[in-house]
Amino acid sequence: MSLSHLAQSDPELFAAVGDELSRQRASIELIASENFVSLAVMEAVGSVLTNKYAEGLPGHRYYGGCWAVDAVEDIARERVKKLFNCGFANVQPHSGAQANYAATSVFAKPGDTIMGMDLSNGGHLTHGSPANYSGKLFRVVSYGLDPQTELIDYDIVAAKAEEFKPKLIIAGASAYPRVIDFARFAEIAHANGAKLMVDMAHIAGLVATGAHPSPLPHADIVTSTTHKTLRGTRGGIILWNDESLTKTVNSAVFPGSQGGPLEHVIAGKAVAFGEALQPEFTTYINQVCTNAKALGRGMESKGLRMVTGGTDNHLLLVDLTTAADGEVTGKAAENALDEVGITVNKNTIPGEKRSPFVASGIRVGSAAMTTRGFDEAEAERIGELIGETVSHLGDEQVLASVKAEVAALLAAHPLYPELG
Ligand SMILES: *Cc1c(COP(=O)(O)O)cnc(C)c1O
Repeated sequence: MSLSHLAQSDPELFAAVGDELSRQRASIELIASENFVSLAVMEAVGSVLTNKYAEGLPGHRYYGGCWAVDAVEDIARERVKKLFNCGFANVQPHSGAQANYAATSVFAKPGDTIMGMDLSNGGHLTHGSPANYSGKLFRVVSYGLDPQTELIDYDIVAAKAEEFKPKLIIAGASAYPRVIDFARFAEIAHANGAKLMVDMAHIAGLVATGAHPSPLPHADIVTSTTHKTLRGTRGGIILWNDESLTKTVNSAVFPGSQGGPLEHVIAGKAVAFGEALQPEFTTYINQVCTNAKALGRGMESKGLRMVTGGTDNHLLLVDLTTAADGEVTGKAAENALDEVGITVNKNTIPGEKRSPFVASGIRVGSAAMTTRGFDEAEAERIGELIGETVSHLGDEQVLASVKAEVAALLAAHPLYPELG
């Protein structure tokens, strides 16, 4: 895909895009929420579909000339329903947060009580953080982890559901390395007159291939992003099985919270759903899970502790208090790793004592590095290199040798070689 027109008409912007491609190529991407889309996805998102207004749904639009984008959106909906084996889908949410806003509003009115996982325990802003609409519009009750096992404490979830009788319980997380028991969540919600919303943003790719149990048989509504393990363009989706919700869900998206859908982005989602339906995607996700475990083994061999002791999915939460006498903060580790060519994000850990801007952990994910082609042995070595880096902050000699090895690993797996 050439950007020759952009290069000609807008050299300043063209240069910035080129810088981002160079940056993506020059580091091992371990941010758990990121991935690299196919060139086909990028072509769809960069297409003429961006020109079209299409408020409404296929066959029921507020604008003329929608027959072609109707086909695009129908393809996206049919594919995503097949992928997740569900009855109904809305593919218009512009992002995961937008999907959550719409889905939450289906079951809770401002002032109602909702229950979600605490942000500092791995939940998401949209699950009730005071900084977000979810914390401003609703009364929020939050649940967290068992301090011993670092797993979701389902007994606390049940006790709080019984005490506070929320309208809606939200399950799903941004930094939880283990399987989530959606059947248990549904049982708790339904026993207490609540609805269950599952936000599978991080694990959607694993759910699509069966590497994580699906929430769809249990939840009243399911939301997701399309750009994390699902490896599609940046965006959101809402899925459900109960036909009687269809009108309410669709109108919560438009006109409830959005205007015209981004049909070029919906086309990018459709291409990614098509890719995820292929057998190669199952192979990919299995490798993602294998690589996550290998990253963990590598880090553990250098003395780092994995929160919960490991991972069932694509991500690890690393407790740095076990490194270098507990002096290494998440922030310092993130910066040092950045210097050697490994991109991660600092993250709070269960029982966190530092501020979230400093934090005592890092979050490490294998989705993007697996797309780039790294195998299990390389993932384990990368884990070791992370361990060496965080236990040798400021040691120029060690860091230079890690950096050289990272550069060699990157050179063995070129990113987007077609882009020149
Ligand atoms: C990433 C994420 C979101 C938000 O997605 P955006 O597209 O960034 O709005 C919502 N929920 C969870 C659990 C996430 O991990």
